[in-house]
Amino acid sequence: MRYERLARAYEEIESTSGALDKIAIFAEVLKEAEAAEIDRVIALTMGKLFPDWKGEPEIGIAEKMAVQVVASAASVPEKRVHELLRSLGDIGAAAEELLSESVQATLWADELTVNRVFDTLYQTAKASGQGSSREKVSLLVGLLSEAQPLEAKYILRTVTGSLRLGLGHMGMIDALAIAFTGGRETRGDIERAFNVCSDLGYVARLLAEKGIDAVRSISVEVGRPIRMMAAKKLSDPVEIMQKVGGRALVEYKYDGERLQVHKDDDEIVLFSRRQERITDQYPDVVEYVRKHVRSKRCVIEGECVAIDPGTGEMRPFQELMRRKRKTDIEEMSKEVPVRLFFFDVLYVEDRDVTGRPMLERRSILEKIIDVSRDVRLTTGEVTDSAERLEEIFMAALDTGHEGVIAKAVHEHSTYQAGSRSWLWIKLKASYTEGMSDSVDLVIVGALHGRGKRTGVYGAILAAAYDDETDTFPTVCKIGTGFTDEMLQEFKERLEPLVAETRDPRIISDIEADVWFEPRLVIEVLGDEITVSPIHPAGRDKIGEGGLAIRFPRFTGRWRDDKDPTQATTVSEMIELFEQQRGER
Ligand code: ATP
Repeated sequence: MRYERLARAYEEIESTSGALDKIAIFAEVLKEAEAAEIDRVIALTMGKLFPDWKGEPEIGIAEKMAVQVVASAASVPEKRVHELLRSLGDIGAAAEELLSESVQATLWADELTVNRVFDTLYQTAKASGQGSSREKVSLLVGLLSEAQPLEAKYILRTVTGSLRLGLGHMGMIDALAIAFTGGRETRGDIERAFNVCSDLGYVARLLAEKGIDAVRSISVEVGRPIRMMAAKKLSDPVEIMQKVGGRALVEYKYDGERLQVHKDDDEIVLFSRRQERITDQYPDVVEYVRKHVRSKRCVIEGECVAIDPGTGEMRPFQELMRRKRKTDIEEMSKEVPVRLFFFDVLYVEDRDVTGRPMLERRSILEKIIDVSRDVRLTTGEVTDSAERLEEIFMAALDTGHEGVIAKAVHEHSTYQAGSRSWLWIKLKASYTEGMSDSVDLVIVGALHGRGKRTGVYGAILAAAYDDETDTFPTVCKIGTGFTDEMLQEFKERLEPLVAETRDPRIISDIEADVWFEPRLVIEVLGDEITVSPIHPAGRDKIGEGGLAIRFPRFTGRWRDDKDPTQATTVSEMIELFEQQRGER
């Protein structure tokens, strides 16, 4: 497929506001592409050459280098690119304009193909070590010399991670269903396959080459991360028991980092909930698994919790994050040792067990784990009584846990990859006070501090994630309750993310003093969720305004384990808002 075809589609998608129309345009492109290049069309459109877990280098080119590339390709001084970048607010548009002015625009000889673009971007990503910056620039300049201005615009956006089409992975799944099965009815099957293998390009190509039945038969494989199952939240034990079907396995909720462990004989790989390989961060966990997991080939999940080396007591999540940020891993693993609490099994000895009910999985887990000081199973009990659930919850809090997770045990209590369903429901202490739960928000902007706060940020603008439009609408401005250490940490972590222009995915009526790349996620508590004229989250659905958090405060917890698309979504905010209304 010619890259021009893709670039034109991007242009059309961008200028269309309706989600369904965007999907239809993309579906047409998919239909026209060769089956063998579908994975590349998907990769370029997602702005990621490979899923993170493959450990391949990322394309991510900093704005500074992109400016050099454009200047060189259009034979203009960098100053001129900077000027245009400031006035147009986007490096892609700047490249398009400059290249159409330059003589080169008329010289492109070969037709640029999707494959050629993909291969060059891959080569660029792989360039490393001494002299690699020069090599990257020269590869990209070479590519631009073959590109038409419109193509240059989208190449630049792709390499700088700013291809904002408003077509998230759910939109692409819909487009695949339409293109290859003639309608959206199969989207559930495609989504399931994606959740099980975490590689949409692979699913897409399989669909194009072999059809929907092949996609339906994708199952768990050792070495390929499965998108993790998540829990809903409720504050009333009686309602929880009803929702899970009258009987539940009630487990303590541990406050650590979730790990998905893939063991293939001696080879052990750890994945985070962002599907990143984090094996190197936990050499001690790898050893524990080697020693205490009896199965030869399996995929199991558990919570990794920091332990006080003196007393053996559990330490909060922040302690674990402190360890993760340090480079001296061996040293830190002595200072902050960990313990594992396993709670699920997805695969065991050549068998995908995600379709088996909860208690069957639990009993497999009991058979393959050698319980020891460092490796255990989560504490849990099966009950059909809401009172008992409450007692277990109180016992959990008394022993330093965050709360409980009630898990359905009926015959359909499968492991649902990538979904947040009523099969798992969490109950935490914070639900009984103020807002029913904390939310995880993305930091998108800040206001400068004045007076005592001169030199640090005075207030933080935070957003939820809208997974339908792939945008970050603001939901609150947090300006109180910061300690001096917090203000310092905000500054240190946010300064490298300052953006010259506002990322168009950030939707805000408030004008911030500085905008950031939407990357960092923090936990925020508030008094309640209200409707506000200033914040745009869910405005199209609520009608009277958008949803906002009243009296928001930062809990001190950085959610480094979440990427921005795993922040609280607008639809979750709407659900919380409705629950809150119902409780009145
Ligand atoms: P939270 O902020 O409450 O952790 P979250 O959005 O990060 O919410 P959820 O998926 O809603 O995550 O809550 C489930 C998380 O709780 C799991 O991802 C896991 O890390 C953790 N957890 C702790 N104990 C358990 C347990 N016994 N069973 C399942 N998950 C557990």
